[in-house]
Amino acid sequence: MLHLQGLSKTYKTGDTALSDVSLTVPKGQIMGLIGPSGAGKSTLIRCINRLVEPTSGKVLLGDTDLVRLGKGDLRRQRRRIGMIFQEYALVERLTVMENVLSGRLGYVPFWRSFLRRYPPSDIERAYRLLDRVGLMEHADKRADALSGGQRQRVGIARALAQEPELLLVDEPTASLDPKTSRQIMRLLTEICSENNLPAIVNIHDVPLAQQFMQRIVGLRAGRVVFDGPPDQLTEAA
Ligand code: ADP
Ligand code: ADP
Repeated sequence: MLHLQGLSKTYKTGDTALSDVSLTVPKGQIMGLIGPSGAGKSTLIRCINRLVEPTSGKVLLGDTDLVRLGKGDLRRQRRRIGMIFQEYALVERLTVMENVLSGRLGYVPFWRSFLRRYPPSDIERAYRLLDRVGLMEHADKRADALSGGQRQRVGIARALAQEPELLLVDEPTASLDPKTSRQIMRLLTEICSENNLPAIVNIHDVPLAQQFMQRIVGLRAGRVVFDGPPDQLTEAA
């Protein structure tokens, strides 16, 4: 479970991107984060994994307040958070399988995946994940030989390879066509419920969010202006 408590961020420039945001994402829930450009969506996601340092507030993942951790602890705790990106962030010259395995390392030194030997249990798990996202027969292809939708499937499998307790998903379909976008959103929602994973999905496509998210949080000028099921979403958000 993820619990944000009074999360605020004011950048050095004086821009207040988040004001006192509190919300809880229970296990298995996929939450869509919507709002106009500049509303604070990216800042919220980045404060959770501390790519951006919050000005105040708590980020509780289970019992751990990520905001209070020192560098070494933070590196360990970040492994509990799976990240999925708009532009996939795959290593192009590695194979699909190698990209998925690299999820076990966390996200910093990708190139180390060349050097590391993986235990058989990691490899078995990676094959299971590739099967789950429908890429089994592409396991040995280079990442740069895949379509956009296939690349995002690799991104999803890689995030799951690290056995995360939370998924943070930043505009996962912004580079995909509408049909592929729906397939990816369906896969993400299924995976969250199968694995009992909480997820926050930054998604600017409101109809897509309404179709797939169990819950929508609307941000505007750094504040939560809507929090509820998609069918109750009004113009206010
Ligand atoms: P969104 O993702 O909803 O478009 P952002 O989180 O990117 O919103 O931005 C929220 C506000 O914070 C905006 O006013 C933006 O200009 C500001 N902002 C974002 N990143 C920075 C930064 N690194 N430095 C200063 N201001 C920033
Ligand atoms: P997006 O909303 O797609 O994330 P943005 O234009 O908000 O794109 O942000 C692009 C990058 O610029 C981000 O790294 C963000 O943190 C940074 N940024 C956004 N607004 C500002 C700002 N006012 N000052 C400095 N950096 C900013």
